Amino acid sequence: MSTNYDKMGELVSFARELGCDLRVNVYQPVTGEEYTLSYEQFWEGFAGLFAAGPLVVCSEPLVNAIVGLETTRGNPCGRTSIRALPAGTITPCPYWPAAAGRIHQLADDPTSMWGRREFERARSVPEACRSCRFVASCAGGCASRRAIRNRLDTPDEYCPVVRGEQEVARIRRMLQYTLSNPAEVPKAGNACTTVISRNVVL
Ligand code: SF4
Repeated sequence: MSTNYDKMGELVSFARELGCDLRVNVYQPVTGEEYTLSYEQFWEGFAGLFAAGPLVVCSEPLVNAIVGLETTRGNPCGRTSIRALPAGTITPCPYWPAAAGRIHQLADDPTSMWGRREFERARSVPEACRSCRFVASCAGGCASRRAIRNRLDTPDEYCPVVRGEQEVARIRRMLQYTLSNPAEVPKAGNACTTVISRNVVL
């Protein structure tokens, strides 16, 4: 969030004191813009996070691609993730702005959900991204972020590629990271998330 992006090191230290890894999800402006990160805050937040400890997983597709991990295949929403919300609705992502159906429909015909319009929209890749060298792993970045802003057809608002190669190089220099030993962490594959290990690199 815009209020704590510069405190990632402190948050990792606090989690470490409790014997915990730190999991971070980027704030999404579902109900308002008060906590939305600016472009610079987004990347400074990740730089601070990566500097604070070994990286266990980063499934935020844009970040994953830009730092060279390239282990994602777009966001999991609509591909490997189905969310059931308290209102009884189904969406590809908790932040997705429209319901794809009702929970009982999932029980009636589980596989049909993937073909529903909102799931197809969540998997859509913006035209401007199709020739990008990161498209296989990034696929346009966070589709929910684009959809919330009614800009599903444009690259992720935090994309440095659209700002030019010098900007990509600058962001890559900012984001220095050490990989943790591989670890199984819950919910790493069904949400755009980043986990920093409680273990310190020696
Ligand atoms: S241009 Fe599109 S695919 Fe390429 S990094 Fe930016 S958002 Fe991702």
